[in-house]
Amino acid sequence: NSFLDLNLSRPLLRACEALGYQKPTPIQAACIPLALSGRDICGSAITGSGKTAAFSLPALERLLYRPKRIPAIRVLILTPARELAVQIHSMIEKLAQFTDIRCCLVVGGLSTKVQEAALRSMPDIVVATPGRIIDHLRNSMSVGLEDLAILILDEADRLLELGFSAEIQELIRFCPKRRQTMLFSATMTEEVDALVQLSLNKPVRLEA
Ligand code: AMP
Repeated sequence: NSFLDLNLSRPLLRACEALGYQKPTPIQAACIPLALSGRDICGSAITGSGKTAAFSLPALERLLYRPKRIPAIRVLILTPARELAVQIHSMIEKLAQFTDIRCCLVVGGLSTKVQEAALRSMPDIVVATPGRIIDHLRNSMSVGLEDLAILILDEADRLLELGFSAEIQELIRFCPKRRQTMLFSATMTEEVDALVQLSLNKPVRLEA
């Protein structure tokens, strides 16, 4: 049970070491190999389980392993609240510190113009709250998700409790059909299951 067993590249292993992570948490040990194999994942996991690195490390690995030929947004992480988005963004910056992968934050309360410019520069990863990213997708012809490889829905139960169901459905229509999707939720309600049906393809179910 070591990060060395998980088939992650050197720059990511170095980052885990720099963060002081000695071994993967259970959700990381279960999720990382499956995510690297390209499977869709439905994980029940709470904050504190290490779920952020569980979905971020394989996403980063896939970006390193399959470099893109053109600038494009390749990974979109959707989370219910601005604070959570800030935390995920900061975690990804740390995990990606020895790579040239770029991650950008798209949330309410920050300048729309600045975010528009950041999105146009085609960061590899976007961490967003639903309302703000939808605004950008509706209003700008040049910010697209057509090359998206991985969609991550974090805290799906809270996304739905906060009334973001329509936004998420609209967002999924902006994403390519052929993609990997990972959904994490603290609780598995009927509403979450409906979203799983809508957005995931033969998911593996994991519990932490
Ligand atoms: P999360 O559940 O993603 O919010 O992570 C909770 C906390 O656990 C964060 O402060 C992480 O930096 C930390 N963490 C994540 N993975 C590990 C690990 N493998 N070893 C030690 N700490 C970790």
